[in-house]
Amino acid sequence: MNTKSIIDAFTQYVMPNYSRLPVVIIRGSGSRVWDSDGKEYIDLFPGWGVSSIGYGHPKVVKAIKDQVEKLIHMPNNFYNELQGNLAKTISEKSFPGKCFFCNSGAEAIETAIKLARKYGNEHAKNEIITMENSFHGRTFGAMTATGQPKYRKEFEPVVPGFKYVPFDDFEALSSAVTSKTCAIIIEPIQGEGGINIASREYLQKVRQLCDENDIVLVFDEVQSGCGRTGQYFAFQHYAVKPDVMTMAKTLGGGFPIGAVIARSPWSDVLQPGNHASTFGGSPLACAAALAVFEAIDEENMLENAAEMGEYLKGQLVEIQKNHPFIREVRGVGLMVGMEVEKHGDDIVSKCLEKGLIINFAAGKVVRFLPSLAVKREELDEGIAILRNVIDELVSEA
Ligand SMILES: *Cc1c(COP(=O)(O)O)cnc(C)c1O
Repeated sequence: MNTKSIIDAFTQYVMPNYSRLPVVIIRGSGSRVWDSDGKEYIDLFPGWGVSSIGYGHPKVVKAIKDQVEKLIHMPNNFYNELQGNLAKTISEKSFPGKCFFCNSGAEAIETAIKLARKYGNEHAKNEIITMENSFHGRTFGAMTATGQPKYRKEFEPVVPGFKYVPFDDFEALSSAVTSKTCAIIIEPIQGEGGINIASREYLQKVRQLCDENDIVLVFDEVQSGCGRTGQYFAFQHYAVKPDVMTMAKTLGGGFPIGAVIARSPWSDVLQPGNHASTFGGSPLACAAALAVFEAIDEENMLENAAEMGEYLKGQLVEIQKNHPFIREVRGVGLMVGMEVEKHGDDIVSKCLEKGLIINFAAGKVVRFLPSLAVKREELDEGIAILRNVIDELVSEA
């Protein structure tokens, strides 16, 4: 099938709820993908970070192939060895606690909300505070938690009991807390909000506020987790542990899986009958995620993410020196943003034409979430395209 007939099928048969790039990608390897016309791209934004250790990583491919022949799915009314192993691995990489498995970030957030509400209701509390400019997903609870009115307004009424406060503003948060507050949900580094990094002092004060008021502190690490920032989880840069943490995107290396980990006593709040997910934690999904953790460790990808992240930021700062419309370069590890005053949409679409995939977030930030295994030469290739595109746009303007 040619590209046009593939796109035509979408016009007729697929709901128009995405704005799609006019490209059909059919193959990927490492940090590169190829489209149906044979054109090659360097991908520094592999599926919102989902293809976290590169396309077609041999360890992930082998783990999935081997498992698919043994057993794809078993429901959660049976034990499964891989799910237990994955829960242990996640706990060892984050903090002592127990996991719940699901299939997406939104589902992980729903789980955290239900857990917090059940615990809260036992103590006559049910309000949840989240951050402005946050993003937590598209299901009703996750959408309501998302502190951006544009995501909610056409779907009202939303879930009751949510309040929003400015991100990284402790005064605003502490004055919003009442005796009814049961949970605070924060992305330590906001992704969709435009790579906004919480300060250390802020998260430490939030931790203390939650301890003093018996509030469940939930970190949404769906985008920042599983190695993205050069630590397994972003909270590890802050020396502040959450009570409950969500993860998804990066976890399965491309295979759909989401998870929640909760420390004691919140680890035992959800009991039989309270919560479930038919596909959650299948042997196949867990095999993929275990292979991702193994590859990250064996191939020193945390170090690589930290080092390549610094390199990428340094190169972007070099571009910024010639272009005052670039306001700021910021990020942690390989979660990097370049805030611009203008040209953002054009930068991303012209880079695509020239064979570089990146993203534009929050209407102001050019965003990069490269593979944790990205190589310096691959970044150099991408940066060269970006530099040309920016020079061209500025000289045309
Ligand atoms: C993407 C994202 C979600 C939602 O994940 P889905 O898998 O799309 O449901 C939730 N939280 C954060 C921080 C995200 O970046």
